[in-house]
Amino acid sequence: MNITVLGAGGEVTGSCLLVQTNSTRFLVDCGMVQGGRDAPSRNRKPFDFDPGRIDFVLLTHAHIDHSGLLPKLTSKGFAGPIYTTAATADLLAVMLPDSAHIQEADAQRANRHHSPARAAPDDAAPLYTTQDALDCLRQLQAVRYDEDVRPHAGVRCRFRDAGHILGSAILEIWLTEGAKTTKVVLSGDLGQPGRPILRDPTPIDDADVLFIESTYGDRLHKDQGATVDELVQVVDQTLHGRGGNVIVPAFAVGRTQEVIYHLHRLACERRLNNLHIYVDSPMAAAATRITMRHLELFDEAARRLAGWHSAGRDLPLLHFTASVEESMALNRVRSGAVIVSASGMCDAGRIKHHLRHNLGRRECSVLITGFQAQGTLGRQLVDGAKRVRIFREDIEVRASIHTLGGFSAHADQKALLGWAASFKRAPRRVFAVHGEDAAANALAQRLRTVNGWNVVTPRCGESFDL
Ligand SMILES: [Zn+2]
Repeated sequence: MNITVLGAGGEVTGSCLLVQTNSTRFLVDCGMVQGGRDAPSRNRKPFDFDPGRIDFVLLTHAHIDHSGLLPKLTSKGFAGPIYTTAATADLLAVMLPDSAHIQEADAQRANRHHSPARAAPDDAAPLYTTQDALDCLRQLQAVRYDEDVRPHAGVRCRFRDAGHILGSAILEIWLTEGAKTTKVVLSGDLGQPGRPILRDPTPIDDADVLFIESTYGDRLHKDQGATVDELVQVVDQTLHGRGGNVIVPAFAVGRTQEVIYHLHRLACERRLNNLHIYVDSPMAAAATRITMRHLELFDEAARRLAGWHSAGRDLPLLHFTASVEESMALNRVRSGAVIVSASGMCDAGRIKHHLRHNLGRRECSVLITGFQAQGTLGRQLVDGAKRVRIFREDIEVRASIHTLGGFSAHADQKALLGWAASFKRAPRRVFAVHGEDAAANALAQRLRTVNGWNVVTPRCGESFDL
């Protein structure tokens, strides 16, 4: 058996593993590279394998850095099934066409800036089209958590709840070659235990080969209680003390619902008053509706919280803006608004307009609630940039920037080690992936010293005979 790391080696996006045995060849995830100057060219370069010869895909979760190149895979000849959980399939039905729409809009813009005298460059065609995304959706095969799936002779797998976003899964895969069966476990993205709405990541007790994510392999999150206290303080001071707005860049899927949940609960508990929350992202509104359809996946506390269930509709203090006009009207709101918008890393979408209108104002705040990859506008803000460029305009950063680490959808070092501790014997080989170098190396080092494991941090393109 051979596994090639095609993405998320020494970085956090572009997840893709190619698994080859003597009888089959398949992918785990097929994600888009996000952030950084070379992301567009990396997403465009031809696959390192023949898509027509891939038998099937196993998909851990809906985030675009894990699923975003699936329509490209289909358009280049992949015709097999894509196995994933039912909730992930529901999310993809919204997310992949949306991603295609962004690709088409980007291509149109590129063409407009392009002189008609020259021949159209190759990259003026969209990475993939809405039709490609719709074709790809037809290949989805929804599976249940904890059930055996047999995608191919010699392959058995199980999707276990990863507690990262709705529908997210850890994969247990048993690969049989001749008389020998090897168990490969892929953590996918692991959630932080104790977060609202979702259940905690499922403990796994054995593996021969383990791929473990390491996004926060070198850090500890603040605890939830302290994070919620900080949220209350920032929102209260900004809205009621200084008379500004609070801008919350948030991933449309997962983080947005979590932020709404917290604000709603804090309002119910009267810890925050006079809240006007605007969710300004059509994708976030759709994802919130899908979340409400999957109550069976919620943890106890979320099921109990009355009123939260109706968050897909307008509550007195919760507004979902749909049209571009409504979104633009928000730009004229000078104070009293909590605006939750995407993209989560601030490099695309409506959030850029909200930052443009509020970053320069001392009375406003920006609440960073998720991971910000290198090369993104969000990372610049976290790193304390005094000036940023948005829509070819220099903007001075006067608003206060707060990072709420405790809301991360990813397990921190302690939680990663806690999950690793559930293995009853050491896996033969361990790969720390999905982390920037410092994070992946720190986790690998801890797993070597604490667990005595044989851990490497692979680079993209590296291949391993196992
Ligand atoms: Zn993810």
